[in-house]
Amino acid sequence: ATFGTLSDRLTQTFSALRTKGKLSPADVDGTVREIRRALLDADVALPVVKDFTGRVRERALSDEVNKALNPAQQVVKIVNDELVTILGGEQRRLQFAKSGPTVIMLAGLQGAGKTTLAGKLAKWLKNDGHTPMLVAADLQRPNAVQQLQVVGEQAGAAVYAPEPGNGVGDPVRVAKDAMKVARDRQHDVVIVDTAGRLGVDAELMKQAASIRKAVDPDEVLFVIDAMIGQDAVATAQAFQEGVDFTGVVLSKLDGDARGGAALSVASVTGRPIMFASTGEGLDDFEPFYPDRMASRILDLGDILTLIEQAQKAFDDDQARATAEKFATDSFTLEDFLEQMQQLKNMGSIKGMLGMLPGARGMKEQLDNFDESELTRTEAIIRSMTPAERRLPKLLNGSRRLRIAKGSGTTVTEVNQLVIRFEQAAKMMKTVAKGGMPQIPGMGPL
Ligand code: GDP
Repeated sequence: ATFGTLSDRLTQTFSALRTKGKLSPADVDGTVREIRRALLDADVALPVVKDFTGRVRERALSDEVNKALNPAQQVVKIVNDELVTILGGEQRRLQFAKSGPTVIMLAGLQGAGKTTLAGKLAKWLKNDGHTPMLVAADLQRPNAVQQLQVVGEQAGAAVYAPEPGNGVGDPVRVAKDAMKVARDRQHDVVIVDTAGRLGVDAELMKQAASIRKAVDPDEVLFVIDAMIGQDAVATAQAFQEGVDFTGVVLSKLDGDARGGAALSVASVTGRPIMFASTGEGLDDFEPFYPDRMASRILDLGDILTLIEQAQKAFDDDQARATAEKFATDSFTLEDFLEQMQQLKNMGSIKGMLGMLPGARGMKEQLDNFDESELTRTEAIIRSMTPAERRLPKLLNGSRRLRIAKGSGTTVTEVNQLVIRFEQAAKMMKTVAKGGMPQIPGMGPL
């Protein structure tokens, strides 16, 4: 995955540190050198690497570390802090217009993922109660207008496109007309998709700048493919000069990019990364949290994203009802079964487990994770009587044997399921009451 190698190298560096009590200046230098190499190998731009390691070194040699109870952990914390900083610091939310429709313009190279992003943003905004309209101002690429219509339909959002057969067309004019239509039809957000080229080119920039002038956007999002590698910085700078974007969207974070683009762009342009795209589907999209990304890179876990994804998988009413059940201890195996089906809808369980702290250390188990276990779990629960599902306490030895036989599993598997259910119920009870969960064996987060 993106950042995989970087993450492995950094965690290795830190585990070598962990055995040390006090850190000598030589230890610090060695560590900083390792970090520097890992970042350069991940394609992070040289000036960013220099800056980063300079700050880490300075802090690591200061009293902050000398006086720390656990110097090695303090260094990890410093690296985490500095990673958060180069990823843009605080999470930056979309800026909405005070009056009239909010205009979001998308810019970037062809293939960066702009059109897909338009659909993702529209769906996300719609879920949040907005009434977005998509505008097809990419009249360059032959299928762009049609592609936008398709994602618009998938997202359930209106699409403004120039009349077909209108030949070349003028994207600035389209954008202007679209604004009028958006006002008339009272759309509160307008998302303008613009044309990209395979490389930065002067005419493309001029066109993007004219569209920008015509629609006076509240946000200009620069979409960049995380796989772009070394070219990231030059491309970002060209777009910054050409259209002056307000935020960055990293796309294709699901690929196995080395991550350099992500770590360089915010830092070099001074513009925050606002969203991350993680797949071709419209739901593969999330606000970007620098702190969570940093802890993911350092394998400190990403428990918040996990919880949010879980929440998103349930619709609101159901989430509330479930939370209520957790809080009042009336959550049953029946509910558990229902939840598992929803988990399946969330996509890969493996991906979810990968976000747990220490997940990289469990790589092998994760790789061996068998999604068909869900199916066995389902079979076990289905072999229980309704009373047993509601009250697992009823499950004595002979009932467990009957269930194992009925579901084609073993008593051990039935036992494990009951234990897992109890742990999950306990963990979710904490979450439902507003607390942070504890992952068994990991201590509080
Ligand atoms: P545009 O030229 O900038 O509008 O780019 P598109 O939106 O057409 O995307 C180009 C290709 O990348 C399409 O095949 C998309 O399905 C794909 N794509 C877009 N975003 C992502 C992403 O986050 N992950 C992956 N794997 N593919 C993506």
